Amino acid sequence: MTSVTALARPEIRDLHAYEAAQYQSGMVRLNANETAWPPPGDRSSPGLNRYPQARAMELTSALARHYGIAPDRLIATRGSSEAIDLLIRCFCAAYADDIVICPPTFGMYRVYAQVQAAGVREVPLCAERGYAVDVDAIEAAWDDRCKLLFLCSPNNPTGNTIDSADIDRLCTTLAGRGVIVVDAAYAEFSARNDLAGLLNRHDNIVVLRTLSKALGLAGARCGAAIADPAVIELLERILPPYCFSTPSQDAVLASLSDRLASEFDERIALVRTERARVADRLERMDSVRRVWPSEANFLLVEVTDPERFKAAANAGKVLIRDFTKGRYTIDCFRITIGAEAENEQLLSALE
Ligand code: PMP
Repeated sequence: MTSVTALARPEIRDLHAYEAAQYQSGMVRLNANETAWPPPGDRSSPGLNRYPQARAMELTSALARHYGIAPDRLIATRGSSEAIDLLIRCFCAAYADDIVICPPTFGMYRVYAQVQAAGVREVPLCAERGYAVDVDAIEAAWDDRCKLLFLCSPNNPTGNTIDSADIDRLCTTLAGRGVIVVDAAYAEFSARNDLAGLLNRHDNIVVLRTLSKALGLAGARCGAAIADPAVIELLERILPPYCFSTPSQDAVLASLSDRLASEFDERIALVRTERARVADRLERMDSVRRVWPSEANFLLVEVTDPERFKAAANAGKVLIRDFTKGRYTIDCFRITIGAEAENEQLLSALE
């Protein structure tokens, strides 16, 4: 047992994963209660009548290659949302353990914690320091109940990245006492990150990635957790077998081929250019009090009259995300950077 796996729930440390039916090429498959005939119109191979691999090995290898790490350091999950759920179920015992979050941040950490009956402690980001994490306050708040710290970088909805030096320090001070989960869903849009260095230096860090954002595969539901192999092995025990549908795996594998890499780079560059253009236009509007600097594919915008601002966007047939009632995001909307024409539709409606 490593000092990280010692933090996991004892039930998970003792769990034997479900043993799925084995498949071997060249053998007739009469061991999984499948039907012999594919559904009408299905031309997929080996056919939708067959279960996918119990563990999506090809997908895992392709994702590991894409993120430049060894396959035993990665678990493929259905969106990074599922990785959040797996981590909380792995490390937090119901009614006993807590997660620590830094609001304003992604809302699903709290939801999955509540589902698992884990406690949620808040150590707010410091708005006056550009929504930086309050490292001293996290260290002061940490006790034996705390198991997971969720840091989102770039952070949703504020858009800033978290300083690698802060993450580095927290991994060191919480070694043996907690796992630092860095949710890097928007990392591709940022020029600043040292995720590889952090993963090499610490065994109590988990980095979450997703194909839903920069790679445009939100509909395929695919993400990953990258961590020490001992942590990955624990998460593998909880993930259901056969959970990636064959069409979803096919879509992801086709998209991750090298041939498409330059296309992704072009789109990311376009989002960055549009992000600067949209921010500049918004900043010139009297209705806008502040546009927070962003390293993601969205902008957090503080406005003078929220109701009027939202009505103007909606009148232009554009939906924006309302954070105006949030305790830490009063009068703020989150605006996703779309295609140029979509952004223009919003800007002209607001102007
Ligand atoms: N993390 C962050 C910060 C997000 O904003 C989102 C989606 N909005 C997710 C994780 C989950 O995305 P997915 O499950 O599609 O990977």
